[in-house]
Amino acid sequence: MKRFAVFGNPIKHSKSPIIHKLFAKQTGILQKYTKICVPIDNFHEKLLNFFKNGGNGANITIPFKKKAYKLCNTFTERAKYSGVVNTIKIMKSQEILGDNTDGIGLLQDLKNLKFIHPKSKILLIGAGGAAQGIIYSLIKFGCNITIINRTYQNAKNIIKYFHNIKNLNCIELQHFSKNLHNQLQYNLIINATSSSLKGNIPNISPLIIKSNIFYYDLFYDISLTPFLKWCRFHGAKKISDGIGMLIEQAAYSFYLWHGIMPNTKIIIQKFKKIY
Ligand code: NDP
Repeated sequence: MKRFAVFGNPIKHSKSPIIHKLFAKQTGILQKYTKICVPIDNFHEKLLNFFKNGGNGANITIPFKKKAYKLCNTFTERAKYSGVVNTIKIMKSQEILGDNTDGIGLLQDLKNLKFIHPKSKILLIGAGGAAQGIIYSLIKFGCNITIINRTYQNAKNIIKYFHNIKNLNCIELQHFSKNLHNQLQYNLIINATSSSLKGNIPNISPLIIKSNIFYYDLFYDISLTPFLKWCRFHGAKKISDGIGMLIEQAAYSFYLWHGIMPNTKIIIQKFKKIY
């Protein structure tokens, strides 16, 4: 039986094993999928040991996606341009193939929700691995993205990584807050920070909340995430957490490993909470 695992830290909250179990049942594919918590400084060794011991592929989550990129020696186009990897497949030739399914997974969920169109203007909060991983798919779809982040340098690094392309820019948080009246042209605001993990929200003004803007939190939980609770409190009407993205990105990983695309709609219905 083929073996897969999701590697991260923390990993307890991960729903990936349940989702992959449902995909396997739905498609009749036999696979074993576990979750592995990795010490922060021991990622390479743990992952390579898993492959040496017969692992066929892996998902990589917070905070190892950039490290995973360095470990791969061949890439899908979207991973090559993103510089971050969330899916690995061991090829017959023993090459380590890196993919990034976060961007395509998010885009698919935003389309399902009708939260996005090719000309959408997006405010992206956060500049970690997840933020970097979703930019390629959103820009390719035609969107325009502005990044704000607690540490401005990390946002600037992303802009530099993407060679200062036209539809991508960043604004210093202080400058953003001072000029809020100029910042309300966004159609969609995405929280790609990990602040929710500790029950926090990014430090931004509630003046960014408007009833006609879509708000999407990459994070997901059994109840409304802190960011979405805050959005709702300040008058947001169209909100979604990242459970749909999680299922869509998992489906693209499953497809890379097995060549079969699971039906995500019924699984999203099963997990999605209506608030
Ligand atoms: P990283 O650790 O790579 O990046 C964390 C980001 O969050 C950085 O931009 C960091 O800012 C910012 N941040 C952390 N704490 C705070 C805070 N208190 N206030 C403001 N900003 C903060 O994490 P990832 O990018 O891998 O993951 C980000 C989130 O996305 C996680 O919650 C993760 O669960 C979620 N995710 C969901 C997916 C899904 O399928 N639904 C897929 C991938 C990720 P700074 O640069 O200043 O440190």
